[in-house]
Amino acid sequence: MQKTLIQYTHFSSNPIRPFVKGEAKGWFCTKVNRGCKYCYAETMNRRLGNKLAFSKMNEGAVEFVINEKELKALSEVKPSKVVFVCDMTDLFHHMITDEQIDEIITTLAGNPEAIYLVLTKRPRRMATFVASKKVSYDNIWFGVSACDNETLEKAVAELTPRPINTWLSLEPFTGDITGSTLLDALGQGGFRVFDWVVVGGESGRSKNIALCTPEWIEGVVGDCMTQKVPVFVKQMGSMWAKFRGIHKTDSKGSNPYFWPEGIRHQQTPSKWGKVRL
Ligand code: SF4
Repeated sequence: MQKTLIQYTHFSSNPIRPFVKGEAKGWFCTKVNRGCKYCYAETMNRRLGNKLAFSKMNEGAVEFVINEKELKALSEVKPSKVVFVCDMTDLFHHMITDEQIDEIITTLAGNPEAIYLVLTKRPRRMATFVASKKVSYDNIWFGVSACDNETLEKAVAELTPRPINTWLSLEPFTGDITGSTLLDALGQGGFRVFDWVVVGGESGRSKNIALCTPEWIEGVVGDCMTQKVPVFVKQMGSMWAKFRGIHKTDSKGSNPYFWPEGIRHQQTPSKWGKVRL
């Protein structure tokens, strides 16, 4: 477990790691959609880990194994601390077994005063897993990642039935959200899919990083405010920082001081109670 720069959480932890050629090294996952294009975990893995690309072709070279020491550390997290679990892979990846997921989720549920975040691009498996357990998991927040209209619509359709605490991560936010999908998912019409929204522009060094505009973020913030759902704007992204001329000091555009006033929202769910970030 380590302290993290992710603004809405205190620590990150990876209790499941890939074994490659008999050695626990680096991280692994397989890309799902446009949101994975500049995957941070893959970049770090290429640089410091087992060097494998996060592709289907490499799945045969990897076996996921639980790190019991890390699991124990997770079980001892202090009250009101927030931990992002498996930020370097996807806990609901098809190569991670139901038994392994169960061991991790059961550990998190066993420490009810701490808050744990998980995030997936495989919402159908997550929803099915949680529903099969018939436990409410009050301290675990089950998140779904989407990056544009298409992935949001798919995520909403697949998160059925929804777990008790859910969140939506629109990061990297690569395409404007139009139409009523988000408003509907936030409760317009009477049924709420997401209880909290995080939004942030794409970051990275490529010249093809998507430009996230303040207008896109304003749209998301506006929908959240209309439906009274807390929203956390994390960053504007690298391309916006470049256009704004602040990239040398704030490469991801994450300092709210430079943002238009209307999007300076960094709210967390009221259920988190006394949490201080
Ligand atoms: S699901 Fe997440 S960890 Fe996996 S490849 Fe995509 S961005 Fe990376």
